[in-house]
Amino acid sequence: MEFPENVESREFGYIPFGGGMVRHLSFRNSGEASAEIFKQSPSSVYCSNARYEYPARPIEEKGWLGAELIFDIDATDIPTPCKRGHDIWYCEKCHASGKLPRPPKCPKCEGTTVEFHGICGVCLGAAKDHALRVMAFLEDDFGVSRSAIRLYFSGNRGYHLHVFDSRFDLLDQLGRGEVADYVRGDSLPPTQTIASILRRRPAGAPAEGEGWTRHVTAYVAERWPGYDGTLRKLVSEAIGSQRALVDSSVTTDVHRVFRLAGTLHGDTGLCKMRVQPDSSFDPLKDPVVLSPKPASISVDFYPRFKLGGKEFGPFRSQTVELPTYATIQILTRGLGEVA
Ligand SMILES: [Zn+2]
Ligand SMILES: [Zn+2]
Repeated sequence: MEFPENVESREFGYIPFGGGMVRHLSFRNSGEASAEIFKQSPSSVYCSNARYEYPARPIEEKGWLGAELIFDIDATDIPTPCKRGHDIWYCEKCHASGKLPRPPKCPKCEGTTVEFHGICGVCLGAAKDHALRVMAFLEDDFGVSRSAIRLYFSGNRGYHLHVFDSRFDLLDQLGRGEVADYVRGDSLPPTQTIASILRRRPAGAPAEGEGWTRHVTAYVAERWPGYDGTLRKLVSEAIGSQRALVDSSVTTDVHRVFRLAGTLHGDTGLCKMRVQPDSSFDPLKDPVVLSPKPASISVDFYPRFKLGGKEFGPFRSQTVELPTYATIQILTRGLGEVA
């Protein structure tokens, strides 16, 4: 487990197997925290990015002392073409399945249909790419040193970035929202407006300005001569290829608890782990820490998936033997039972 600095000022929480979240816990040091976590052996362990005077009290009495800036990048929020293949619907009754949009009733048996959102290496690669974009904004536009940024695989569908730069610690919700809007490119004027400003510049003029102005003008300066399309389209490309689709609601929440690095994600059995930005980390292989020992499960329905360097499925109303690590997501989605 990887504990943050100032353990004594953090709020901890956990979810026991088969239970609800227990929050507002505090420990004097990482040793005491580890001992309690091992004793409880919960399904999930969380720790606040905020520091409090009294971390164990209810929110309004905690005495907020500041919080690290955090970004959450979830593959679900990033449009990738492969989603058309692995985001599907299935019938709870007869386990028929098909492409989205989900029909209100199963065309075969009139049973209830449910959406299934899959995940793949392409989606997770896109999420990492967006995390690296956030890092670039932080370094280039906010002057954050690379050593102050920690990148984590979340253990499920994306990445977390923790920024250990005290300049951000006291930012309120509004200020954090502005930073999130900035990296998302949400505070930019419409592409039409930007294009009409750029149109007044001499063709091939070099990059200028700061921040987004520089990012857009640099992109345009490099590609505009001989570009096959409108200036507006190029501007939209410049923004689309550099914006980072972070989940703003996570960045702005200053009382949130986050999964502790080095612990397992309760829904996937994958480890939340620190990732070196330039490493060839494989999120469908490296965070697999559970046993490869075969386990027998009866699966109602599960599409093809990759994990631990192997490919499994698709399964429909059958009993199969899978490595233990590959059974967790099927069981936690309620789509199978231990046979
Ligand atoms: Zn059906
Ligand atoms: Zn995908």
